[in-house]
Amino acid sequence: MDLSRRDALKVGGGVVAGAVGALGAVAGKGRLDEGTPLPFYGSAVSGIRPDRSAPGAASASVVWAGPATSRRVALTFDDGPHPEWTPRVLEALDRAGVPGTFFCTGRNVRDHGSIHRDSVGRHELANHTFEHPDLGRFPLDRCRDEIGRTSAALADAYGVTPTLFRPPYGHLGGATLLAAAEAGLTVVLWSAQPREELFREQPDGIVTDVAAAVRPGSIVLGHDTGSADRLPTIERLPRLIATLRDDGYTLVTVSELLHPRD
Ligand SMILES: [Zn+2]
Repeated sequence: MDLSRRDALKVGGGVVAGAVGALGAVAGKGRLDEGTPLPFYGSAVSGIRPDRSAPGAASASVVWAGPATSRRVALTFDDGPHPEWTPRVLEALDRAGVPGTFFCTGRNVRDHGSIHRDSVGRHELANHTFEHPDLGRFPLDRCRDEIGRTSAALADAYGVTPTLFRPPYGHLGGATLLAAAEAGLTVVLWSAQPREELFREQPDGIVTDVAAAVRPGSIVLGHDTGSADRLPTIERLPRLIATLRDDGYTLVTVSELLHPRD
């Protein structure tokens, strides 16, 4: 601890003074070091309302995986719909007769919504914000806006009310959690994901690597929009599905994973 921070704590005491000290450290060094407390952004990111009224929900639900009691796994695809990638994912899933869960951005539903017209009832469509910002630094009103507009876009395009929400980058602040809870959405993170960067020379390794990471109840993160380095996973989706089935897994939507009916 440097002298200025110690002084700030001694003079002011408590969390706010500590935050002042942290801000001073940031200003002095020009960057945040590991171990330096994040600056205190005021109460906004915590989700506490400026007027100090009670939050609109008492708790939030966050999941990384489903129950480990049966060999079920959910494949998820973020950031779409995309006019070229999403049809490829849908074709692979539909050929195999398995469902996927698509965490859509509102702007892509607005621009490319027709891609999922036939997905309702076969796949799960869920909320991934409208513009894909980092909500972890947003106050409550902006989190609500991103989440609310996206659920409205999904309702308009498909007549479905999403029950799942995934924050971009997996970043969460208190305001994000509260906005999701107020909207009745379960926050869905993930427990396995492809590591394309490790298998540029031998992309078939992506499949064996993901399959080795999957456990009963896993939620697998994928993308149906993004940079070209993610395409090898899309191209190998049939192989991944076959490998998981050979390993005795049943592929289900995230909602089926979390709320098994049998
Ligand atoms: Zn995303």
